[in-house]
Amino acid sequence: MFCVKCGTRLPEDDTRCPNCGWDLGELAISHRPEINNGMVGALLATLLCCLPLGLVAIACSSQVAGKVAAGDYSGAEQAAARARFWTWAAVLGGIFFNLSGLVVLMNSPLPNMF
Ligand SMILES: [Zn+2]
Repeated sequence: MFCVKCGTRLPEDDTRCPNCGWDLGELAISHRPEINNGMVGALLATLLCCLPLGLVAIACSSQVAGKVAAGDYSGAEQAAARARFWTWAAVLGGIFFNLSGLVVLMNSPLPNMF
C-alpha cells in the first residue's frame, strides 16, 4: 500500500502516513506501485553506447508513465522490462562496436594515433 500524497510505502494496516502524516482513510485502498521506468539508464545508453538501440529503450521507457496513469500496472511493468532489456542491448552493443572499431583501427595500415 502506498500513501496517495507522497507515495511512501506503508504497512498494510496503517491509515496514517508516517512520512507526511496524511490520513489515508478510504483512499488507503488506492494502490500505486512505484515502477522504475529506466529512463536515466536508457538516456545514458543512447548517448554513450549505441544510438539506435538506446532510442528503442527510450521509447519503451516513455510508455511506462502513461500506462501507470491509465492504471495498467502490468503493462507498465512490461514496458519497464523492455526498456531495461534494450538499455542493456545498447550498452553491450556499444561496447562491442567500440571494441571492434578499436581492433579495426589498430590493424589498419594508417599511422597509429595512440
Ligand atoms: Zn505520505
